[in-house]
Amino acid sequence: MLVVMRQDATPEQIQGVVAAVEARGFRAHPIPGGQRTAIGVTGNKGTTEAPAFESLPGVLEVIPVTHAYKLVSREVKAEDTVVQVGTVRVGGPELVVMAGPCAVESREQVLTVARAVKRAGAQILRGGAFKPRTSPYSFQGLGEEGLKILAEARAETGLPVVTEAVDAEGVELVARYADAIQIGARNMQNFSLLKCAGRARKPVVLKRGMSANLEEFLMSAEYILAEGNYDVILCERGVRTFSDFSRNTLDLAIVPAVKRLSHLPILVDPSHGTGRREKVAPLSRAAAAVGADGLMIEVHHDPDRALSDGPQSITPEMFETLVRELRQIAPVIGRRL
Ligand code: PEP
Ligand code: MN
Repeated sequence: MLVVMRQDATPEQIQGVVAAVEARGFRAHPIPGGQRTAIGVTGNKGTTEAPAFESLPGVLEVIPVTHAYKLVSREVKAEDTVVQVGTVRVGGPELVVMAGPCAVESREQVLTVARAVKRAGAQILRGGAFKPRTSPYSFQGLGEEGLKILAEARAETGLPVVTEAVDAEGVELVARYADAIQIGARNMQNFSLLKCAGRARKPVVLKRGMSANLEEFLMSAEYILAEGNYDVILCERGVRTFSDFSRNTLDLAIVPAVKRLSHLPILVDPSHGTGRREKVAPLSRAAAAVGADGLMIEVHHDPDRALSDGPQSITPEMFETLVRELRQIAPVIGRRL
């Protein structure tokens, strides 16, 4: 349920409600809004306690939240959430482009790609130091060494870094080096990992599972918010369908659907979404047009020799052309790039 405070409620009154919620063994999530503060309550069964909260000083009303997901829903927070990744704001008027290699392969490779995408206009650097690979014999990533390379690329280019954590120990390690923690499609329902990310003090980029429906996707985000980390960015990266001309089917229709139900920002990843280099630019343009808050794109300076996801990685030249096109599309839909 949601405890809505009066517009003139004092910080002490807000604190009083938080204390009353916690005294019952529930969790309180204060959500400051433009007009007033609301306090999301989780851990309760039903709304039998509503009258007790309603009579507390400063409380306007207590309303039940009907959706299965609570904290991620617009019922609880009507205004769009803006997530700060390093110096970059995701979910505001800016269309945010994250770019970089699928995997961190070497210092040379990351610095080359980071410089190129920065020059072209990317705002955030991506790259996996821990890679969730289908085969145990495929390149698994450089681990902590890869994180150090990413940190060096950030120091040189100024680009904040997003990189994946594949397990609980990885969350802590990644949080130490990166500006945002990526949770991959294969881990979208790894609930212990989600809880761990919910306790981290860095924003989380949560990718949609390859067979997850909208409710499952939002429930996974809810796991992270329920632990107290409200800085979650969703990412559509394609789902499995019968369609056989691309690696996955990029479900762009989920963008307006998410926007209607949730206040969280949503990115689109057309690289994993299509799996084919030549499809990345057209689907990026479409993602921007459909209202995505940003894009996550795999770029490699020598894609044919990439250690992972070469076929879907675009070259720095292709990326530069794409950013130029996105700059023309952005103002048409009221965005900046
Ligand atoms: C990635 O971003 O490199 C990745 C592994 O993505 P996904 O989890 O969407 O497959
Ligand atoms: Mn990849």
